[in-house]
Amino acid sequence: MVSDADRVKLREMAAKAAEQAYAPYSRFRVGAALLLQNGAMVTGCNVENCSYRLTCCAEQGAVARAVAEHGPGIRLRAIAVTNLNGAASMPCGACRQTLAEFADDSAPILYPGEGGTAMETTLGTLLPSAFRGEFLESHQNLSTSKQDALHDPRQGPADPGVKEHS
Ligand SMILES: [Zn+2]
Repeated sequence: MVSDADRVKLREMAAKAAEQAYAPYSRFRVGAALLLQNGAMVTGCNVENCSYRLTCCAEQGAVARAVAEHGPGIRLRAIAVTNLNGAASMPCGACRQTLAEFADDSAPILYPGEGGTAMETTLGTLLPSAFRGEFLESHQNLSTSKQDALHDPRQGPADPGVKEHS
């Protein structure tokens, strides 16, 4: 459960973080605030780079900071993102995937709509069928059993180039 008070505070903290944005190229100043499972709130802002493609989004900065401050076991209860440009904006595609690493589909995403209206959706709505770590685990198990099945100990190490008909 995320209280209305937490929602208001998250939006405020995201806006405050946006004031710190390093955005000399786009001038699009973004802030994000995360509410962690332990009740802590952690913020981030976008940090641009003159190479452009190395720009780090506010959400990704906030996630990195949350892990650094609270450890790898963090879970996100809610996420707020905003900007100081009066633009309607949601987390970008890359950030949706980053958030999915630490949040369930039901996690609320708070964002500014047209005219700065306080809007809310969920991560699952923004990123349906997210790629999740569970898929990787089942793939790894499958790969291991396939390699075991293909590997003949009399012939030395298994050939990674071996093809198998399904
Ligand atoms: Zn992003």
